[in-house]
Amino acid sequence: MTKLILANNQAHNAISGAVQLLSSGRSCLDVVEEGIKHVENDPEIITVGYGGAPNLLGQMELDASIMDGSTRQTGAVGALIGFAHPISVARRVMHDLPHELLVGEGAARFADEIGAEKRDMLSPKAKQSYVKWIAENFEGINAAEELQDKKLAEYTWPSARADIAKGTTTFLVCDGKGMLAAGASTSGWAYCYPGRLGDSPIIGAGVYVDNRYGGATCTHTGEMTIRCSTARSVVLYMKKGATVQEASHEALQDLKDLKLGYIGPVVIHAIDTNSNHYVCTNQSEGAKEPYCFWKEDMAEPVRTSPVVI
Ligand code: ASP
Repeated sequence: MTKLILANNQAHNAISGAVQLLSSGRSCLDVVEEGIKHVENDPEIITVGYGGAPNLLGQMELDASIMDGSTRQTGAVGALIGFAHPISVARRVMHDLPHELLVGEGAARFADEIGAEKRDMLSPKAKQSYVKWIAENFEGINAAEELQDKKLAEYTWPSARADIAKGTTTFLVCDGKGMLAAGASTSGWAYCYPGRLGDSPIIGAGVYVDNRYGGATCTHTGEMTIRCSTARSVVLYMKKGATVQEASHEALQDLKDLKLGYIGPVVIHAIDTNSNHYVCTNQSEGAKEPYCFWKEDMAEPVRTSPVVI
């Protein structure tokens, strides 16, 4: 077993720092948190943290989760508004509360209570894109404010397209001594119905890790991985004897077997306890974004594409 980090493309500016932290002996959970914080701060990443995309009402509702593979303790926040680092709030949920997931006002109240850094997470660029989206897609709506009192369901459908900004940052980390951790953070589905949660804060759907078998994280269509408990499924298939590749293929097949509902790309990132990793996707759309990987014997992290199955 060696130290390793498997992250997705959104982490390409963060992975070198994460590698340094892991190499210097910081814990897997620290590496997950610090790596994700870096992405949450990066305004160029239009699907995570500051610079991410708002919901249909222009609100920045952010989701994040973290999981400890040794205890299977988790912490998650959903639809958190007004804080710079959802991942850090999620970690404090794990440590400070007898709960696993806080959403909306309760999550914000807790973030405030622990003194989490406050920030308006809607960047000027993201606001511009949002205003443009409203103008281009909704005839007769001249300003975003005019949506506030409307029934929003019909306005949600135009964003149900694979080319609309979606994305998450996910990290899987192994310390080379048997400890695994995982985490995710996202602004979710751009221009979604307010209150929509994807899979990133749903443990078992977007994130799962267990020191005994391995871990998995998912990106893209959270609506599908919630229906299949995909991250947990990968780990369960490994528990039942599948290799990391076989387990990922089984979980991907479960996604491909889904009928009706919103169907789109999903990328599965998985590691086992022998430092093997595998990344695959159900659609070529999902392969457009490479993933980032580093293992102790590599001088630099690499970026490479998922396998399309
Ligand atoms: N999986 C995320 C969600 O459903 C978004 C993404 O990764 O594209 O919110």
